[in-house]
Amino acid sequence: MFDLIVKNVNVVRPNVPEVETLDIAIKDGKFAHLAPSIDPSDASDVVDGEGLHAFPGVVDAHMHLGIYHPLSEDIVTETRSAATGGVTSGISYIRTGRYYLNKGGSYADFLPDVMEASDGRSYIDYGYHVAPMMQQHIDEIPLLIDRFGIPSYKIFMFYGSHGLHGRSDDQSAFLMTPPGENYDYAHFEFIMRGARAAMDQFPDKADYISVSLHCETAEIMRAYTKMAEENDELSGLAAYNAARPPHSEGLAIAVASYLAHETQFPNINLLHLSSAKAIESAMLMEDTFPDINFRREVTITHLLTDFEGVTGIHGKVNPPLRPRSDVEALWQAIEDGNIDWVISDHACCADEMKVDQDNRNDVWLAKSGFGGTEFILPGMVSEARKRGLPLHRVAELVSWNAAQRYGLRSKGTIEVGFDADLALVDLEETWTIRADESESAQGYSPLEGHELTGKVKHVFLRGARMVDDGTVVGEPTGKYLSRPTA
Ligand SMILES: [Zn+2]
Repeated sequence: MFDLIVKNVNVVRPNVPEVETLDIAIKDGKFAHLAPSIDPSDASDVVDGEGLHAFPGVVDAHMHLGIYHPLSEDIVTETRSAATGGVTSGISYIRTGRYYLNKGGSYADFLPDVMEASDGRSYIDYGYHVAPMMQQHIDEIPLLIDRFGIPSYKIFMFYGSHGLHGRSDDQSAFLMTPPGENYDYAHFEFIMRGARAAMDQFPDKADYISVSLHCETAEIMRAYTKMAEENDELSGLAAYNAARPPHSEGLAIAVASYLAHETQFPNINLLHLSSAKAIESAMLMEDTFPDINFRREVTITHLLTDFEGVTGIHGKVNPPLRPRSDVEALWQAIEDGNIDWVISDHACCADEMKVDQDNRNDVWLAKSGFGGTEFILPGMVSEARKRGLPLHRVAELVSWNAAQRYGLRSKGTIEVGFDADLALVDLEETWTIRADESESAQGYSPLEGHELTGKVKHVFLRGARMVDDGTVVGEPTGKYLSRPTA
C-alpha cells in the first residue's frame, strides 16, 4: 500500500530528455513507484494530476532569510512565498555582524540561536551556508561540519571596504570582527585553506565541502561609485549599474580562482554572475585551472529583467541589474551549458527598510536586495519555452545541480527513493506578477507587472500537500537539512 498516488502527470526529470506521462506513488515521504498506470486502490489517497507537468521540488540554494527582519518571522512569510512557487528546499546564507541577528562571536554560540529561530516555522526544508568572518570562524569549520551539518562557506569579496549597500568607512564595526583582523584577500585564502584541511579531515564529506564567492571588487566600485554620483546624466538603477561595473566582477572572479589554485581547494561556486564580462572571466578561469571544480550561478531576477525594465529604485541589488545585452549573455551561457543553477538571492526588504523615507529616489541611500524565490520555476519555465530550452534542463538548473553540489542527496529529482518533493505546473496558464498576491511580506516586486506563462498549481513536500491550487494549505513542517543528508 502507498500513502498517495498522483495520477496522470507529465514527469520532468533532470538528465532525462523525454517527458513521460506517468503515475507517481509515494510512501513514507519518498517516491516509491513510477509507472504509466498504478491502481488507485493501492493507496489511501489519490490525486488527479490532470496532465499537469510534475517537476522535482525547487532547491533555492541562495536565500537570505532573516537579513532585514527577525529570522523567526521572516522564515514564516518567506518560506510560504517560496512554497507557492514550487520551492521545497532552501539554503540560506547567514553570518555574524550587522543585519541578520546583529551579533558577533563564535558560530558555536551563534548557530544555536539560528536553529531555535527557525525550528518549526518553515514551510520548506531548509539549511544554512555560513560566512567565516574572522579567524575563529575558520578554526570552527570542523565543528560546522560535524555538529551543524554546514559544509558550504561564503566569501563576500567586496566587504573589504564596502558595506552591504555602498561605501563604508568602518568595516570592523559593520562586520563585528576583532581588532587587528582584516576581511581581505588573505582572509579569503585562509578560508580556502581551512576548507581544504576539512576535506582531508572528513574524506566522506569532501565532495560537499565548498566555498561560494560573491565576486565584486571594492577598489573598482569605490572609484566608479564616485564617478556615477558626479554624473548628472545618470540616476537610479542605471547609476547603480555604472557604480559597480562588470569588470569589477570579472576581476574578482580571477582573484578568487587564483586563490583556489594556490590553496588547492577545488570546490568553488561563483555566485550570481550578472554580466557578459563575468561569464567571460569565469570561463577563462575554467580553462586556466582545470583542476578546480567550478560551479556558476545566476539569479532569476537577472534573467527576467534588465534595469530598464524596473521603475524606481526597488531593483537595487548586488551585483546590479544590468542592461539587456548582459541579460542575453546570461541566457546564452545557459544555452551553452555554462551555468549550473538558478536561484533567487531572496532577501525580503520591505519598503520602509529598502528606501530612505526622506529621499525616496536616492539609489545610494537605498538598501540592497529583494525577494523573488517564488518566481524561479514559473520564470524559468516561461522563458525556457520561449527560448527553446528543454524542460529537463530547467529541472537540472532549478533542482538537481545545486542539490548535488550542496549535499542534498535525497533532493532534486523524481526517482524511487528520493524525497517526494513535487511541483505540479500548468505550462499554458499565463499570469501577471503582482506583489499584493504574494505570500511574501515584502509588499513590492521589481518584477511587478511581468507576464509569465507557466503557473505552479500544487506542491507536495515529502509527499504531504503544501500548496493546493496556488494556496498554502500545509503546516510549517519544513525540516532542517543537516548536510550532506543521508
Ligand atoms: Zn545573496
